[in-house]
Amino acid sequence: MRLIENVYQTSGVMYGTNSSTYCIDTGEGLVLIDAGFSEKQYEIMRTRRKEDGLGNKKLRDLFITHGHFDHAGNGWLLQKDGVKVYMSAEDGAAVKSGDERTLGSLFGRKFRAFTPDGKVRDGQTFDYGNTQLTVLEHPGHTEGTISILAETNGKKILFAGDIFVLKACNPADELQPEIGWTGGPDYNGTKNLETFRKLKELPPVDLVAPGHGSVYFGDSRKLFEILYHLAEKEAQQ
Ligand SMILES: [Zn+2]
Repeated sequence: MRLIENVYQTSGVMYGTNSSTYCIDTGEGLVLIDAGFSEKQYEIMRTRRKEDGLGNKKLRDLFITHGHFDHAGNGWLLQKDGVKVYMSAEDGAAVKSGDERTLGSLFGRKFRAFTPDGKVRDGQTFDYGNTQLTVLEHPGHTEGTISILAETNGKKILFAGDIFVLKACNPADELQPEIGWTGGPDYNGTKNLETFRKLKELPPVDLVAPGHGSVYFGDSRKLFEILYHLAEKEAQQ
């Protein structure tokens, strides 16, 4: 589904998957955000690209926000297709070992370990045709969680992984975002609060695209302000 010029959602709750994946048509190949969980999701992603007229375009690079199974599970499969996989050093190490940081027992499956092609760090940029990506280190949910800030066709999009989740608004049409899951073996509350502080300082974006639930076209600064207050409360508990 096309979300904004050059940016597509290729899986997610509307297509019957738990986690969301995205695809940017850069004019110099397709860049993917997150790999999804299972072969079923992989097929859905492929079908969506075909339906959106992207089926013949080259799959170029994949950025995985973090090493949890539902985001990195298909990393090996996309790598087999010739896609270059980029992750942080920390979560790259998790998917290389396939250990409990990837949440195999939570998902009841064995994680298929793979070695990412490149490690990314805070502030690193990637240029492709009409699109520039900037890596933002946002640790907390996992040790090496990253977000990807994309600029394409004059619009900014934040691919935010599992830092937070957007569910339905309340009956008064107010946002009710939630802090991302805090139960992982490498969750770090102090770093998580710092991540929400950084998020609050981020210049406005046109589209917020998390790893679960809904995307958001509204006022990102307001959203990040609400989230920061939630994170502060969480930190006090
Ligand atoms: Zn996660």
